[in-house]
Amino acid sequence: MKSSTTDMDSPNAGAGQGSDTADGAPTRRIQRQIDRGFVRLYFARPLEHDFHDYLRHSSRLSRASLIFLSLIGVFSCALIDVPWLGLPYELVGVTRFIQFSVMIPMTLVCLYLCLRRPTSTVMELGMALLFVVISASFLGLRVVYARAGFELPLELIGVAAVAMLCLSRIRFWLQLALLAFVMTKVFMVEAWFVPIDGAYDIYTTALLVVVAVIAGYSSEYTIRATWLNASLLRYTSRLDRLTGLLNRHALETALSHAHDYARREHKSYAVAMIDIDAFGAYNNYYGHQHGDVALQQVADALANHARRPLDFCGRYGGEEFLLLWMDCGCEQARTLAESVREVVEHAQIPHAHSPAAEWVTVSVGLCHVDAEFAEAPTDAVLREADRMLYEAKANGRNQVGYTRFTDDALPV
Ligand code: GH3
Ligand code: MG
Ligand code: MG
Repeated sequence: MKSSTTDMDSPNAGAGQGSDTADGAPTRRIQRQIDRGFVRLYFARPLEHDFHDYLRHSSRLSRASLIFLSLIGVFSCALIDVPWLGLPYELVGVTRFIQFSVMIPMTLVCLYLCLRRPTSTVMELGMALLFVVISASFLGLRVVYARAGFELPLELIGVAAVAMLCLSRIRFWLQLALLAFVMTKVFMVEAWFVPIDGAYDIYTTALLVVVAVIAGYSSEYTIRATWLNASLLRYTSRLDRLTGLLNRHALETALSHAHDYARREHKSYAVAMIDIDAFGAYNNYYGHQHGDVALQQVADALANHARRPLDFCGRYGGEEFLLLWMDCGCEQARTLAESVREVVEHAQIPHAHSPAAEWVTVSVGLCHVDAEFAEAPTDAVLREADRMLYEAKANGRNQVGYTRFTDDALPV
């Protein structure tokens, strides 16, 4: 079966329709990924790409809270460092300089990015830079303070690491690289520039960083697992199990959205009801299992006729299917409906008891709706398509019955 777009909001999402990929339909791709696991925190493409999109969109709140936490942290520190934390007066100048010319501007840049470009890569880089700048500032202050005989706790860098790994929602491996870089800097600075014995500080900071790494890994692992399961559920609840097309429920939702869209945008569209000819006889002669396989083959052929993002195809019930082509001219719709009929016939699935041909064939009822009738209720359009299907059957099957929607078809 053909695979579909990975956009879950598209009417065809997950329904095995659209362009080919080597990996198959999204549902199969997701299931395979769940089976394989993802201990390396990496999904096979294109899932990884979709996951990044999701992570960017779902992380706004978390990142915004990290930015506000940084701002509140710096401002509150400026208020209490002298009266409460005992910062000597001679160190106030350099402290304010670092706080207000480095830490606050960097945080404000992130705040700006968070408000204006919350889902961009630049935002991710901004968060990474925020961590580097804040930890470098702490380290710089620690060196200056230590030379004046005052000790700034190194654990503050550990706290910054915990905050980054839990709230920044940057991918874990990038965070790990940043942490390795910052911790190397810490060890070097402590060894060469801090004139006090900081062994205990380094030990507790390292412990905090280890906690942050474990929390960061398990947090991303959980987010990935939840995202995979939610995606699978969202796809499968919309799909017919046998054919992989949209199920009746999803079809009704897609129809209603298509109707709203056509009405709002003043677009024409066409609906085709497709019914397999003499399928009862097929089942009786070949058995239900062969019948299921034939249904799948027909469904595959139909799926290829709903390739554009607003087109869709679904199983209406039993051996009946529905196709909708959005923004489609009348002649184009007729050509597509004829192509549907031809493709099924040319698949040459033997049918020894069909009154229409030696092969499995379909009859198609097509109703084209001009933009001027886009307001018409979908029920009335479906009724017209069904009426045309009935005519196609009555005229000998394996053919397309066609009508244009008119005032007469509107409910009284
Ligand atoms: P017509 O050409 O008038 O459409 O005749 P028909 O035999 O196709 O129509 P009818 O409504 O009499 O029979 C439909 C058959 O489709 C009956 C049922 O056995 C079969 N069918 C419906 N759903 C499934 C399914 O999921 N699997 C199988 N194997 N058969 C199914
Ligand atoms: Mg039928
Ligand atoms: Mg039938």
